[in-house]
Amino acid sequence: MNITFPHMGNTYIPAKVLLDFIGVDYIIPPLCNKKTLETGVKISPECICLPFKTIIANLVNGLEAGADTILFGGGCGQCRLGYYGALINEILSDMGYKFKYLEIDFGRMSFGDIIKEIKTVADIPAIRIFTGICLALRTVFLIDSLYKKAGHCRCRELGRGATDAVMREFKKNVLSVKGFAEVKRLIKKTFKELEKIKLDETAKPKKIAVIGEIFIACEPFVNLEIEQKLGTMGVEVHNHLSISEWIHEHFILNLIPFKVNTRAQIAAREFLKAEDVGGHGVETVGNSVLRGKDKFDGIIHIYPFTCMPEIVAQSAFKEIQKKYGVPIMSLVIDELTGEAGYITRLEAFVDMI
Ligand code: SF4
Repeated sequence: MNITFPHMGNTYIPAKVLLDFIGVDYIIPPLCNKKTLETGVKISPECICLPFKTIIANLVNGLEAGADTILFGGGCGQCRLGYYGALINEILSDMGYKFKYLEIDFGRMSFGDIIKEIKTVADIPAIRIFTGICLALRTVFLIDSLYKKAGHCRCRELGRGATDAVMREFKKNVLSVKGFAEVKRLIKKTFKELEKIKLDETAKPKKIAVIGEIFIACEPFVNLEIEQKLGTMGVEVHNHLSISEWIHEHFILNLIPFKVNTRAQIAAREFLKAEDVGGHGVETVGNSVLRGKDKFDGIIHIYPFTCMPEIVAQSAFKEIQKKYGVPIMSLVIDELTGEAGYITRLEAFVDMI
């Protein structure tokens, strides 16, 4: 068996840790790039949201490189994500690929369900899979804290580009290390490198929160490296759509036998009566309220063209801006988004705040 999986930001690192630990062969598709998007656009339904287009292209790359099993962290709900699995299966089968399909929905499946699903394709002891998942989850939190540290340094660094150079090196090296211990060692080493960067300790950077659809917020290729771009403009970026926050809210809290609402879900109630509008719509409203209360200087709302949950969420922004006095700019991304126009909008927003 040879597993492949699609990219969403840094998720390939914990996936690698899990598969290394349980001893399953895998193929990591090339990180998302222009060619990925071109492939995805060619084989996807025209109006499907952008995440689908890169996901299916990643899987094509993996299958072409010899993978025979797909691991997809899908799910169901009120938006198109619920159809992703069926569509992926249908399109790839029509293209002539033969593969086994494994779907893991962290938001709805328990540890036991996930172990059972993995055991359908590989006879691995449950305790080994359980330990592998725990190590992968630990990796998610370590990686996110590393990227948070990088965000802190980038907007304060005295030598422009120092943080990006360290993080570029990390991205290059993480592909060649194997297993949790080596990944952890590399993260620690990168942390130390970041700590050596000379910072302007007197700097008081503007604080901007990135909210919206999680795939776009996490995947640097499709969000055109928004965190890096804002960081080099001297802005401290707070991306509350990290994988670790998602895991905490949708997987760890789900292990509690009664329903626990997150802070964002509670905060959203002031402006949105619906319990769920699909995707991260409710969280987007809640997060903008929370960031308004936290006196952020601005909020950037980012989502893929035609994303229904985010369009619903956007309708609450006028009231939120009025009540909390926080400016919100929405950026809609699709395969035609041009980088120059995008940078201009970011610069104009930063100038404005
Ligand atoms: S949240 Fe939006 S972008 Fe994500 S699958 Fe649903 S409709 Fe598509």
